[in-house]
Amino acid sequence: MFDERALKELASVEAEGPILSVYLNVDSTQRNSEEYKLELRELLKCKADGIDNEDIEAVKRYLEYDYDGSGRGLVIFSRQAEGIWYAYSLAVPVCSGVTVARRPYISPLVERDGLYGRYAVALVDRQGGKFHFFDMGELVDQRGFVGEDVHHTRRGRGSSVHGMRGGSQLSGRREAELVNRNLKETAVALTEFCQEHLPRRLLLGGAEPTVAKFREVLPAPVNELVVGSLGVDFEAGEVEVREQSLALLRELEQERHEKVVEALMTSAAKGLNGVVGLDQTLSVANEGRVQVLLVERDYHQSGYQCTGCGYLTTQRLNRCIFCGGEFTEIPDAVEAAVTQVVEKGGTVEVVDEERMEDTRIGALLRY
Ligand SMILES: [Zn+2]
Repeated sequence: MFDERALKELASVEAEGPILSVYLNVDSTQRNSEEYKLELRELLKCKADGIDNEDIEAVKRYLEYDYDGSGRGLVIFSRQAEGIWYAYSLAVPVCSGVTVARRPYISPLVERDGLYGRYAVALVDRQGGKFHFFDMGELVDQRGFVGEDVHHTRRGRGSSVHGMRGGSQLSGRREAELVNRNLKETAVALTEFCQEHLPRRLLLGGAEPTVAKFREVLPAPVNELVVGSLGVDFEAGEVEVREQSLALLRELEQERHEKVVEALMTSAAKGLNGVVGLDQTLSVANEGRVQVLLVERDYHQSGYQCTGCGYLTTQRLNRCIFCGGEFTEIPDAVEAAVTQVVEKGGTVEVVDEERMEDTRIGALLRY
C-alpha cells in the first residue's frame, strides 16, 4: 500500500534515462476496465516520443495480467532499462495523465497524501469508542474500547427522560459519573491509539453532546489533532466512515489552504519566514529550509539544475557556485522543487489556482 514512506522513497528516485509516470482513473463507479485501458493507450500514444517501448509494454502487461482491478486510482512508475518499477492502487481517485522525466512525477501523489494521508476517526458514545486509522483512504487499523454499561443503572434501555422520572436523583448522578468515567477511559485508549499511529488529523463522530463532553476530557495533544466532526452514527460501518471522512477532509482542505496561503502572504510581505515566486522558492529549497511548500496545481516551469549537487535555479549559469558542476536544462523546475522538499522531510500543499493569485509558488521556512 501507498504511504508517507513510499512517497519519500519515490522522491529519492532518479534515473539516467526517462521514467514513465502513469496516473489512471480506474474508479469502477465511473468507468469499466475497457474504458480506462483505452484511455491509457491514448495517453501513451500522445507521449510516445520520449518513452522506451519496454516501459509502455510493461505498463500494458501489468494492467492486463497483474492488476486486480481494486481501488480508484492506479499509479505506475516504470524505467525497465534501470530496473525501476513501482505500481500502487489507491483507494482515493486520481486524474489520468502520463509524464516522462528523469524522476517520478509525484505532485499528484503529494497532493493526495496531504489531503488523505494518515488520519484517525474516533466514534464515541456514552459507553466507549471505536477508533479507525486510515491512510490514503485505506483502513490500516481499527480498535474499540468498551467501558461500563451505562444502561444497567436505569430500568431497561429507556430514554434519559424515562431514567430521570423512573429513577431517583442519585441514579441520575450515578449515571452521569459513569458516563464521565467511560469518556475519560475512552480518551486514554484513544490517546494510546494516536501515540501508536501518529495521525496528522483526527475526526470525531457520535452524538453531539457526547462528543462535546469527550473533548473536555481529551488530553491537549490529542485534542489539537481534532479538525472536525463527522455526522455519522456510532454504529456506522467502515464504508460509511471512510466515505464521510474523505468528503469532510476535502471540505476542510479549502479552509486549511486559505489559512496557509494567508500566512505565506503575510510573512512574505513582512519579510519574515516566507518567500514567494519561483526564484526565491528554489533558492530556499536548495538550502533545505522549506517547512511548507505551497504550489499551484498544474504549475510547470522549466529551469536549470546542477548535475553535480542538484542545485535548482531559473537562470542559466555557466558553473555551479557551490560545486563547480555544470547545469542542465530541466523541463519542470517546479516538480523538481516539490521532489526536493518531500525528500528533505518538508510538507507540500498543492492549492487551487485562484487561491495563489499571481504568486503560483511560495514557501514557509523552517528558520
Ligand atoms: Zn552544484
